[in-house]
Amino acid sequence: MTSSDDELQQLLLTLSTQFRERLENELPELRALAQQLLLTNDAAVQQLILQGMREQLHKLAGAAGTFGYSDLGAQARALELSSAELLSTSTEAQLQAHAQALQLFSQQDCIPQANVCSGPSTAPHTNNSSEVNRRIYILEPNQQLGENLHSTLQNFGYATEHFRTSAALQAAVNRQLPDALIIDSHLDEENPDGLAFIRELAAQLPLPLPLLVISQQQDFDTRLRAVRVGVAGFFAKPVNFSALEGRLDNIFVQQRGEPYRVLIIDDDLELSKRYRLVLNNAGMQIETLSQPQNIDEVMHRFNPEVVLLDVHMPLCSGPELAQIIRFNDAWLRVPIIYLSAESDISNQIKALLKAGDDFVTKPISDNALVASVFARAQRARLLSTALSRDSLTGLLKHADIKEQIAIEVERTARRGSSACVVMLDLDNFKQVNDRYGHAIGDNVIRALSNLLRQRLRRIDSLGRYGGEEFTVVLPDCKLAQAKNILDEIRQRFAELPFMAHDTSFNVTFSAGIAQSNSQSNANQLIELADQAMYAAKKAGRNQVLCSPA
Ligand code: GH3
Ligand code: MG
Ligand code: MG
Repeated sequence: MTSSDDELQQLLLTLSTQFRERLENELPELRALAQQLLLTNDAAVQQLILQGMREQLHKLAGAAGTFGYSDLGAQARALELSSAELLSTSTEAQLQAHAQALQLFSQQDCIPQANVCSGPSTAPHTNNSSEVNRRIYILEPNQQLGENLHSTLQNFGYATEHFRTSAALQAAVNRQLPDALIIDSHLDEENPDGLAFIRELAAQLPLPLPLLVISQQQDFDTRLRAVRVGVAGFFAKPVNFSALEGRLDNIFVQQRGEPYRVLIIDDDLELSKRYRLVLNNAGMQIETLSQPQNIDEVMHRFNPEVVLLDVHMPLCSGPELAQIIRFNDAWLRVPIIYLSAESDISNQIKALLKAGDDFVTKPISDNALVASVFARAQRARLLSTALSRDSLTGLLKHADIKEQIAIEVERTARRGSSACVVMLDLDNFKQVNDRYGHAIGDNVIRALSNLLRQRLRRIDSLGRYGGEEFTVVLPDCKLAQAKNILDEIRQRFAELPFMAHDTSFNVTFSAGIAQSNSQSNANQLIELADQAMYAAKKAGRNQVLCSPA
């Protein structure tokens, strides 16, 4: 980094800190305005409040993205627009709903999503389709197949468009680039060779796009040609739609790559600021801690993937703090790297024997710091994913989703809000396995998990509770909202066609939902949701019921 870079970064950091302080003041102000809106019936006062909200939200929306709070910025923008709409016409119910939405908004934790130092351009690209729908172009001359693919992928939450000719697709690409392309290897008369068309198209694109091919032929030569034109997925006819969607999902999950979370513990504030800048600049999300006694709070809240720990600190040493961290089983997986001026190898070994995984010796170059933290974080995430994620679906496993439910229930209770827990079970799934085989059954399970992932918000957590049972936790969500969301997913799922040999079939699910209150605990909620789910089974399956409790 050059010194002018340094100055710029320093400036941005100062600004970002100031912005965070501003948020800490402004969010409670907005909350107070929302409260006033709920309390008054006077139309003139309501107008004044809405006007104030709109102005404040406008400023927030403009600034938040620049400082790495891109989600918060988008939410502020949406609320700004609805404040403006309500200024012209509004019903009592709309005002209530608006005030409640604003209260939820103002209660969130103000954690930047990304690199606070380098502005919006490096903020992570969120692709959860409930926020941004991925655009997929399909080039398929067969009307029936094209339409089926189009509606199936739409059910998964993608924004798809179907074209029958290469000319039509070309025109669409010229207008707007998609996020992925699905192309038949055998096209129209003008352009019969789909793979040759892909090669030409790929050469014009400003950046490589994920390309999937559908093909009648599946011989080695055709597949080799596909690889050579840069195809990321190859699907023989009849197309297995859920496998194709699974591949798209995989591609987008990889692209999504959330920034690594790194906790820096050092009593030297200047130094930890510097490390923060360097690692932020490399796209990582950083928290710093200078008071070791606050370790539990920050570990819980920030859930770091790597801890960088100073060895010599006044209140307690690095190795002592590492041992305190290791007392908690939940944090055994987090790598701890000592950052120290200690160059005596035997002292380093002594520290490592107590706890901790590695030593980085100060002073360290920026590049070396980034490389060693990056490698650790990457490995920690891979390991943690492998351990906590189910291999068939990539969802959280039983124990981990239960833990997640407990965390979310507690967190929403603290905010005075509520969460919903959903239990979901495939209907008559034994028959699916018996009729079409276990492998096809696995496809159904994977398709449901992909659909849930696509349709739910990024803040929702999803787990595979058992064989064909899933659990979802929706923070800051009321029973009625949860029921709407789940019903929509239920309908879309019931419409998905699954292929077995040459026949197509459909599957449904039943679900039960329970909403938390200030006293709820995770086990009770799971139990209540489970009871509601069984009631749905009893009532005839393919439905969503809410727990009365
Ligand atoms: P209900 O509507 O009452 O839920 O009926 P069901 O047939 O779905 O329920 P049951 O509990 O009798 O059967 C569940 C079936 O799910 C039996 C089991 O073989 C199947 N299953 C569980 N895990 C998997 C899996 O990972 N893959 C496949 N293919 N099948 C699974
Ligand atoms: Mg079942
Ligand atoms: Mg079951």
